[in-house]
Amino acid sequence: MKMTHRRFDALVIGAGGGGLRAALQLARADAKVAVVSKVFPTRSHTVAAQGGMNAALANTLDDHWHWHMYDTIKGSDYLGDQDAIEYMCRAAPHAVIDLEHFGVPFSRLDNGTIYQRAFGGQSQNFGESQAARTCAAADRTGHAILHSLYQQNIRAKTHFFDEYFAMDLIQDEQGYILGALTLEIATGEVLLIEAKTTLIATGGVGELFRTNTNASINTGDGMAMALRAGIPLQDMEFFQFHPTGIAGKGMLITEGARGEGGYLINSEGERFMQRYAPKVKDLASRDVVSRAVALEVREGRGCGENKDYVYLKLDHLDAEVIKRRLPGIRDLCLTFLHIDPINTPIPVFPTAHYTMGGIPTNRFGQVVVPVGGGEEVLPGFYAVGECACASVHGANRLGGNSLLDIVVFGRAAGDNIIQYLKDNRYHRKLNQDSVDKALAHLLRWDKKPLDKQKVERVDTLKQELQQLMETYCGVFRTEDILQQGLDKIMQLEERLQYACLHDHSKVFNTARIEALELENLLDLGIATLTAALARKESRGAHSREDYPDRDDKHWLQHSLFFKEKRRLQHKPVRMRPISVDSFPPKERVY
Ligand SMILES: Cc1cc2nc3c(=O)[nH]c(=O)nc-3n(C[C@H](O)[C@H](O)[C@H](O)COP(=O)(O)OP(=O)(O)OC[C@H]3O[C@@H](n4cnc5c(N)ncnc54)[C@H](O)[C@@H]3O)c2cc1C
Repeated sequence: MKMTHRRFDALVIGAGGGGLRAALQLARADAKVAVVSKVFPTRSHTVAAQGGMNAALANTLDDHWHWHMYDTIKGSDYLGDQDAIEYMCRAAPHAVIDLEHFGVPFSRLDNGTIYQRAFGGQSQNFGESQAARTCAAADRTGHAILHSLYQQNIRAKTHFFDEYFAMDLIQDEQGYILGALTLEIATGEVLLIEAKTTLIATGGVGELFRTNTNASINTGDGMAMALRAGIPLQDMEFFQFHPTGIAGKGMLITEGARGEGGYLINSEGERFMQRYAPKVKDLASRDVVSRAVALEVREGRGCGENKDYVYLKLDHLDAEVIKRRLPGIRDLCLTFLHIDPINTPIPVFPTAHYTMGGIPTNRFGQVVVPVGGGEEVLPGFYAVGECACASVHGANRLGGNSLLDIVVFGRAAGDNIIQYLKDNRYHRKLNQDSVDKALAHLLRWDKKPLDKQKVERVDTLKQELQQLMETYCGVFRTEDILQQGLDKIMQLEERLQYACLHDHSKVFNTARIEALELENLLDLGIATLTAALARKESRGAHSREDYPDRDDKHWLQHSLFFKEKRRLQHKPVRMRPISVDSFPPKERVY
C-alpha cells in the first residue's frame, strides 16, 4: 500500500468552526498548519447553524457577561465547569467583534449595531427577566461564520487536505500524540501526517440516532480515535434533544423561531409551555421544552393522525419578520413540508441534536487525563468544539452557546499551541510500530469474511444501531430500558466482526469510510449507554424516570468512560470560577 509522509508544526483534524478558528490563529502566527477534513471545509456541520451566537453585547436589551455566565451554569444544571464558563462568557463580545472583522455579515439593528434575538434560558440580572443575547446573521449564522473563517484561512495560507479521512492517531509508548494516519478518499492512498501538536475538532455524533438534526458526516470519529488512544470520554450520557425538529424528518427549526415570538401548541390548541415553565414559557431551556413536548404526546395531546407531534405556531407573526429574520426556516418548510409558516403551523418533535460530552479539556483546549487522584495535561494534544468537553455545557447546552464555544476555544487552543511550539521546537521520534497499529485498523476491512455464512452488511448494522439508540436512549430513560439497550448494542458489536466489504466485486473507498465510521459510532453508543445506565439521577438532558430528582450529594461530578474494559470513573466539577464567586447549585426553575 502506497503511503505518503508529511510533517507539520500543527495538525488540525476537522474544518468546522472550531478547527478553522484554531488554524487561523496558528497560520497568522506563521506556524506550519495542516487542516484535514473528510468533506470540503465549508460543508462541515457548522454551516447548518441557524439561530446565532451568544454574547452580552447589550445591543437590543441591557446585558452583562456575568448574567450570561449565570444562565450558562444554570442551563448546564450545575455540571458545567465554572472557570471555563466564566472564560467563555467574558471572551464572547470580543469573539463576535473578531468575527465581524473577519467579514461575517451579521444582521443589523436600525442604529447599525449587530442584531441580537432572544433565545432559551437567557436572562437579565440573574434570572429576573428575558435577555436578547444571540447575535444573528438572519437564520444562516453558521454559514456566514464558516465561510468567513475559511476565506481568512486561505488568505493566511493554511494548508488544507480536503476530503481526507483521519483514521487513527499516532501515539508513541509514552502516550504522546504525534499526528494521524489519513486516507485520501478519492484515491484510497494513505497519508501519514506527522505533527508536533495535534488538535481534534471533528464535531459531534448526531448520527448515533435515527432522527437527528445533524449532517450524515457527524459520526464522532475524533472522539472514537481518542478512546482508542486510551483517553476517556467525559459526560457522554448527556445528549441534547432539540424540541423543534421537523416531525419524522429531523431538520431543525431554530430556537430563534420562538425567540422571534413563535410558540408551541398541542392538539387542544393549548399553549402548553405555560404549565411547564410559567415564567419564560417557550423560551425555557431545551431539556425542559423537549420533555414537555414528549409528555404532551405521551398523554394523548399530540397532533396529527397518529397524535405524535405538536405544532410550532409562527402564523400570528408579521410576514415580514418571517421573511427577514427566518428566511431559511421558511425555505425548509416550503421544500420539505410544502407548507408556508407564514400561514400554517409547523409539525415538530424532539430530535437528537448536540453532543454535550466529549474529549475532556481545560479552558486552553488542552486534553486532560486522570492521573492518580488528580489530572494532567497531555502535552501537545488538544480538542475543541463539539467533540470536546471543556466543560461549558455540562448536562444541557444553551442555544447559541456552541458557535460561541467553537470560536472562543478554537482561538484559545491556537494561542496555547503557539506557546507550545516555542517551547518544543523539534518533532518527537516517530516509531514504526505506532504507524503499523493505526494501519492495521484500515487493513482489517480488506480481509476476506471471517465466516461466509454470517456475513453482515455495514449499512444494516448502522441502521439497527441508530434505531436502538433512539428506542433505548431517548428523552426519557429507566434502568430497565438502558440495560436492554446496552445488551443489544453488545450483540451489534459482536456482529461487527462479521461485517465485510467483500460481498461486492469491487470495494469503493466510500464503503471503507462507512465501515470505519460504523466502528466509531458503535464505540460511542456503548460509551453513551454505559454512562447513562450508571448515572442514577436526573440532571439536564439525562432524564431518569426511576430517579426523577437531581442528586447533588452523589452525582455532582463528571463521568469518564474508558474503552478498555468499558470502565467508568468520576471526577469533581470545577466549581471555582476565575475571578468571581461561584454559583452554588440551587433548584432550577424557568
Ligand atoms: C442544524 C443545526 C443548527 C445549529 N444551530 C446552532 C446555532 O444557531 N447556534 C449555536 O450556537 N449552535 C448551533 N448548532 C450547533 C453548532 O453548529 C455545532 O455544535 C458546531 O458548529 C460544531 O462545530 P465543530 O467545529 O465542533 O464541528 P463541525 O462543524 O461539525 O465540523 C467537524 C469537522 O470535522 C471533520 N471531520 C470529522 N471526522 C473526520 C475524520 N474522520 N477525518 C477528517 N475530518 C473529519 C468534518 O469534515 C468537519 O470539517 C447547530 C447544529 C445543527 C446541527
